[in-house]
Amino acid sequence: MFNKRTRVKDLLAGDKANYEATVMGWVRTFRNNQFIALNDGSTNNNIQVVAELGMFNDDLLKRITTGACIKATGDVIPSLGKGQKVELKARTIEILGDSDAEKFPLQPKKHSLEFLREIAHLRFRTNTFGAVFRVRHALAFGIHKFFNEKGFVYMHTPIITASDAEGAGEMFRVTTLPIDGTAPRNDDGSINFKEDFFGRSTNLTVSGQLEGELAAMAFSDVYTFGPTFRAENSNTTRHLAEFWMIEPEMAFYDLEDNANLAEEFIRYIIRYAMDNNKEDLEFLAQRLAEEEKALPQDKRSEMGLMEKLEFVVNNSFERLTYTEAIEILNESNHNKKKKFQYPITGWGMDLQSEHERYLVEKHFKKPVILTNYPAAIKAFYMRLDDNCAPERQTVSAMDILAPGIGEIVGGSQREERLEKLEQKMRDMHIPVEEMSWYLDTRRFGSCPHAGFGLGFERLVQFVTGMGNIRDVIPFPRYPKSAEF
Ligand code: ATP
Ligand code: MN
Repeated sequence: MFNKRTRVKDLLAGDKANYEATVMGWVRTFRNNQFIALNDGSTNNNIQVVAELGMFNDDLLKRITTGACIKATGDVIPSLGKGQKVELKARTIEILGDSDAEKFPLQPKKHSLEFLREIAHLRFRTNTFGAVFRVRHALAFGIHKFFNEKGFVYMHTPIITASDAEGAGEMFRVTTLPIDGTAPRNDDGSINFKEDFFGRSTNLTVSGQLEGELAAMAFSDVYTFGPTFRAENSNTTRHLAEFWMIEPEMAFYDLEDNANLAEEFIRYIIRYAMDNNKEDLEFLAQRLAEEEKALPQDKRSEMGLMEKLEFVVNNSFERLTYTEAIEILNESNHNKKKKFQYPITGWGMDLQSEHERYLVEKHFKKPVILTNYPAAIKAFYMRLDDNCAPERQTVSAMDILAPGIGEIVGGSQREERLEKLEQKMRDMHIPVEEMSWYLDTRRFGSCPHAGFGLGFERLVQFVTGMGNIRDVIPFPRYPKSAEF
């Protein structure tokens, strides 16, 4: 058996000393031909492996370079060095994989995030990305734990779908037909998708919600957690073409139940990461504080990262309706001084991210749940609110807006009444016949139900304090970029 090793994290956490151990990992630095800082990804902290002078031959020592992979066996002893309780006094050192120091792109110095994005295949081996992806893992695990504890069933909704109910323009097509112009055609010249792999036109999913609803009509409480794809040409720090989404869907929930769950959920998983990844978060907090030192005072965050997370976990989110939000925005000095790029034109307008951020960051200074949006600017499946004036028809929608990020959750109570849903679909030119399977839930035992979608990477951004969404997913996909 090869892998008889102790993880660096466990070595450093133990109070014991004076025992034999084997460590394996990648060399971060090698100082004075004696002190190896070794990291195996289990923690941001390195174990110091000491290669005592005279113990090892020069050929071996020359191969201990930044990036090389080594195996070291020796005694764990109390450390005299600063910042670590123990170190490993090596008896044997074996090079598992050499790394040419001249060519290894990750020199032991500070690199910009932009540069590291270009070498995303190696950036895992930096402190920052080590911390980010361990936190990402903790959040993913916390999410499953939360739903499991609540008795939700994890449903795997399809990645390839034929439903074009949501924003067809933003979907990636999936096809095996030739793209050189020889694809079979219909009489009218359009592509004949009957000849395609699935016998119809198919796309990558933009959301698992519709299938989630089908499952909720049997299991009561379900969630999906999977990749979604959007071919939107958004070159922002908040949009990816491939991102992961968590979508719970619950029978017997109204809008308020939905908001309660979303809030409890977000606070739970942040708490989970704080409890399980304190060191990584503290490292990231430090990184952010240093990054912000370069910014002018008014661009810096009011709270440090840990403070912000603590605040979110311990304070309830502000809840208000879209109508109330429009009033606040309209009355704001920001608007009166014409500081919004998109002026507040009144009830019915779609909120831009500058408006959302004003509410969250300037007005309330905490996460906000905005509800009851105008029906005209929201999706067809959202439940029409009762007792509205016709020109002020709203739906039971809710968006959760987070400081620094903007929209992190989008959700709603769903329209459970068949006639109203069909009418809405016709009004919005959604093919009712093709969606018959979806409407079956409303035909056979319909019930009030609700759900939401949380963008996983936006959550990871919020918790890690990383400014660009491309730095919280291992291999980001965005316009003109699908490397690795
Ligand atoms: P936005 O207005 O920010 O583009 P949206 O209204 O298109 O968001 P929804 O369709 O409601 O978003 O998707 C649900 C959630 O998925 C959003 O609240 C957000 O957290 C996340 N999300 C949406 N689009 C993206 C994207 N391109 N990249 C990463 N996350 C996204
Ligand atoms: Mn969008």
